[in-house]
Parts: sequence; structure tokens; C-alpha cells
Amino acid sequence: MITIDGSQGEGGGQIVRSSLALSLVSQQPLTLCNIRARRSRPGLMRQHLTAVRAAAEISGAAVHGAEIGSRQLSFQPGEVRCGSYHFRIDSAGSTTLVLQTVLPALMLAGGESTLVLEGGTHNPWAPPYDFLARVYLPLLARLGPRVEPRLERHGFYPAGGGRFSVTIHPVRELGRLEMKERGDVRSQHVHAVVAKLPRHIAERECREIAKLSGWDRRCFHVEELDDSPGPGNVVMIGIESERASELCTAFGQKGVRAEQVAEQAWREAHRFLEADVPVGEHLADQLLLPLGIGAWQGAGGGVFRTLPLSQHALTHIAVLQQFLNVRIETSEESDTAVTVRVG
Ligand code: AMP
Repeated sequence: MITIDGSQGEGGGQIVRSSLALSLVSQQPLTLCNIRARRSRPGLMRQHLTAVRAAAEISGAAVHGAEIGSRQLSFQPGEVRCGSYHFRIDSAGSTTLVLQTVLPALMLAGGESTLVLEGGTHNPWAPPYDFLARVYLPLLARLGPRVEPRLERHGFYPAGGGRFSVTIHPVRELGRLEMKERGDVRSQHVHAVVAKLPRHIAERECREIAKLSGWDRRCFHVEELDDSPGPGNVVMIGIESERASELCTAFGQKGVRAEQVAEQAWREAHRFLEADVPVGEHLADQLLLPLGIGAWQGAGGGVFRTLPLSQHALTHIAVLQQFLNVRIETSEESDTAVTVRVG
């Protein structure tokens, strides 16, 4: 039995999701205490509860404490079963985070799985669907598992109601990954999206990023969605380089000017470009899980260069070490770059 203190490090939902994912993969029973102790509304929220239920459903787990607001959870996983699953969050909670909870186990399961996920697909503080499809999953494919995503409907915070599906082609063992260099930047694109909001918001975001970046007009693309149940606005800056992809995102908010939203996305993109690393801040914390699992299996793990590690990444390292006892070393090269070695 592994006991994980949910108040350690960033003390949020990621500890819950990663612990569940690692419990499933390593088949070790888990007790989580002090769940989301560092958040203003501690305990399990709807989105985390969906993640717990999803993890229980794919493994027939015995679970105690799976309730809204619960600060303690025990989870005894059974054997992971591939198959067809449907997970729905009755709020705008992030579907991509629910996927990331069950994906490690299903990408190592005995056969293909198909998942349908409903809820938020484009949420602040979570990987947007586009990040998953264009950055995370292509990188995962380099370790072996192929995951094909298909967006059916956008779901923005706070209305939610989005929907996407994935088909997971598993492997027995994860391979190694080396990402030390980014290589030359080949292209950049800015995609500003509005749903049930005026088009000029997205146009102004593009204009602002054009001003800040000096990029050619052809890099910019405005889209008005008609598939989203609620209003929403997101601006995404994609950077394709020889050996890596990155997607920096900012979301429109009431009371925040479109130009400020654009600037926020640009700041993140600019920081990434200046650092000349292949792995961005968010990808770094998400990559640790498959690399840690690969190292634990034996043939996987790897090395990557990234921006200074976030609290999320540091917490992820601590949880991985507790569960899998893998070696993870970090070395700071400068103020803007860190090398991470897993296994
Ligand atoms: P938590 O705050 O503990 O619920 O974890 C949030 C997760 O979402 C972390 O893995 C973050 O790296 C990830 N995340 C947050 N914002 C973004 C973003 N804009 N792009 C990609 N991933 C993100």
C-alpha cells in the first residue's frame, strides 16, 4: 500500500490523477490523504471524481471516499481492462485531464480501447484539446503507443458540454525518448477562436500578436465556432520546430481585454522561443509520467531539456519516485534551461 500526501508540492489535482494513473500501472493499492489541500476549495471536485470513477471503471477497483469534497481516498486497483468507455463530467471540468488519468494504463493494456469524453475540452489550467492532439499525443507516439483523437464538439469553461473521442493502440513496453535540442523553428501559427462571442475579439488577438511577434499575416487564422454549447475564446500559438512542437494558449475572460489575452499567450511563446529548449513548461510535467513508467518497466525513460521546472513538475517527480522508485535527476544549465534525466 502506498500513501500519498496530497498536500505536498503544488498540492492540487495533479497529485490525485498521477497517483491513480501510477496505482493502475503498477497495480499497487493507494491511499491519498489531504487531497487538494493547497486549493481554495480542497477535496475532490467533480472533475477529480470523474477521474477516480474512470480509473475504477477500467480496473474494477475497490474505492472508498469517492465523494465531492472528500479529502481522503483509498483505491485498490484490479486488472486493467481495455475496451470501450464513456466518461462524462457534468460541468466544464477538463476531459483531457480525465484522459491523462486512464491513458497510461490503457496504453499498456492487452488490446485497443476507445474512449468518449464529455465536459470541458478547452479549459484554463488544463491542457486544451489542441495541446493534447498536437503536442502531447505525437510525443507519446515516439515512445510507442499510438493514440488517435477526434474532437466532436468544443466545450469551454464555464458551460462545458464538449466532446471528444480517442482510440488507443497500446504497446507492451514504452521506449526511450531523447529531446535535448529543439532544432530550427520551421513554422509558427496563431489560431484565435471564438464561440458565441464577437469575431473582433479573435481578430484583435491576432493583430496584437502580429504586432508583438512581427510574424507574417499568413501565420494568423481566425475561427468562429458554431459547435460549442457555451461562449468561449481561446488564442493558441503553435510553434513547429525540427524536433519538437509547442502550443501556448490563453483564454478570454470577462473583464480582460483581448489584447491582454493575446499578450499572455505571446509571453509564454516568447519565453519558450528565447530559451531554445525543445520541451515547454506544461509538457515537461506531463512527460514525466510516461518517461517514469518506461524507466520503471526497464527499456524506457530518457532525457529532455526544458524551461525551469514548475511546481507541478517537481511534485510529479516526488510522486513518481514514491511509487516507482525510479531515478530522476535534474541539472540546471542556466536561468532558462534545465536537463531532466529519467531512469
Ligand atoms: P492541476 O493544476 O494540478 O489540476 O494540474 C493541471 C495540469 O494541466 C498540469 O499538468 C499542467 O501542466 C496542465 N496545464 C495547465 N495549463 C496548460 C496549458 N495552457 N497547456 C498545456 N497544459 C496545461
